[in-house]
Amino acid sequence: MAVLLKKVLRLGRPVLRTACCRTLSTETGFSFDLTPEQREYQQIAHRFAREEIVPKAAQYDLSGEYPWDIIKKAWALGLMNTHIPSDIGGLGMGIFDACLITEELAFGCTGCQTAVEANSLGQMPVIIAGSQDQKKKYLGRLLEEPMMVSYCVTEPVAGSDVAGIKSRAVKKGNEYILNGQKMWITNGSKANWYFVLARTDSDPKTPAGKAFTGFIVERDSPGLHVGRKEINMGQRASDTRGITFEDVVIPAENVLGQEGQGFKIAMGAFDKTRPPVAAGAVGLAQRALTEATKYSMERKTFGKFICEHQAVAFMLADMAIGVETSRMAVQRSAWEVDQGRRNTYYASIAKCLAGDVANKCAADAVQIFGGNGFNTDYPVEKLMRDAKIYQIYEGTAQIQRMIISREHLAKARQTH
Ligand SMILES: Cc1cc2nc3c(=O)[nH]c(=O)nc-3n(C[C@H](O)[C@H](O)[C@H](O)COP(=O)(O)OP(=O)(O)OC[C@H]3O[C@@H](n4cnc5c(N)ncnc54)[C@H](O)[C@@H]3O)c2cc1C
Repeated sequence: MAVLLKKVLRLGRPVLRTACCRTLSTETGFSFDLTPEQREYQQIAHRFAREEIVPKAAQYDLSGEYPWDIIKKAWALGLMNTHIPSDIGGLGMGIFDACLITEELAFGCTGCQTAVEANSLGQMPVIIAGSQDQKKKYLGRLLEEPMMVSYCVTEPVAGSDVAGIKSRAVKKGNEYILNGQKMWITNGSKANWYFVLARTDSDPKTPAGKAFTGFIVERDSPGLHVGRKEINMGQRASDTRGITFEDVVIPAENVLGQEGQGFKIAMGAFDKTRPPVAAGAVGLAQRALTEATKYSMERKTFGKFICEHQAVAFMLADMAIGVETSRMAVQRSAWEVDQGRRNTYYASIAKCLAGDVANKCAADAVQIFGGNGFNTDYPVEKLMRDAKIYQIYEGTAQIQRMIISREHLAKARQTH
């Protein structure tokens, strides 16, 4: 393994630096072919997941320890922070390319993948709306050493209903004073800085699109308190915390865009981050299919390998259908946004489908493993616990369906 890893390390960062940014060829119409470069860094991520993540995933799940060693190696290979623009020294990858990497990392362990993906989520508002100085200062840091960031929007009182958040930032001179409480913040105790959404307009009648502001908040700000690590059902390597802000002073220069634009910035990030989150769910579903297939070709009952029983073979077929179709939905949603088009509809379809498929595939994998599937000595019970969150975070399955139906009906009304 060490020899192979050395090869990966030799290939790693320089390859990603020079190879990124080309998505599927469009000159000749639609194509499922990846470019040689895309295949190359997909392979790097593929090998990294199998050699570095898979062997350690169960231990991190059991201990709940943060997978710093994996993250540091992923950083060194250029497998994280892939969206940071090239004009400040980042890889400047498109969303499609990022999804190729994310799916592979998720195959290894979605707890580790979520830690990496939450960095992209925290960065995205800065990429979308940050000034060049903000980008250089806050994204530039992430290129210098392995460092985490967080996206702080959800609160104990409001998750799906983002406009219901209560955190409040009040302008005093050239500063804002932030008070409030955030909940379920991934990388909460590991972040070097946070994207924070807070209300800046006290009039409850002000529309959400004008009432909130997005801020960059430094981790070491006085008055910022990080809560205990939450003990979650799955993805236990990922760090989830509550964060409390007590009279935290934020310089006005840390406002993203302008005061009042925060809601749009925070929601706009999802068009670019939902495809990779959905790609994570595809990676988990693929892992479930791979493990279940292998097991079904080794385990015998009634004198046959269990894959030779039609009931089991059809379960594998259904899993394959789910993996292939959700991967296509991810690629479509990523490709749309890379073309500069609004992909909200496709991103929600991908997130919704891939989340549901991951849960179905993980449950079916447990079923195919029989009693062994229920036991921690085998990899699939972890998949079932890890899968659930894909129907909850980054917009629940119900919220995705609300978005899809709203977009669908808006289009239908135009032609009706
Ligand atoms: C492990 C983990 C990591 C997370 N990481 C982050 C993070 O890094 N940053 C961050 O800001 N947040 C994060 N979250 C928060 C996550 O995005 C929210 O939990 C999620 O959006 C749901 O919000 P909620 O928990 O408040 O549930 P609620 O909004 O209270 O929803 C409860 C239930 O009601 C349903 N529901 C709500 N409204 C409607 C409606 N209008 N129609 C139909 N059904 C509805 C929901 O689908 C859900 O089933 C994380 C959560 C978890 C568990």
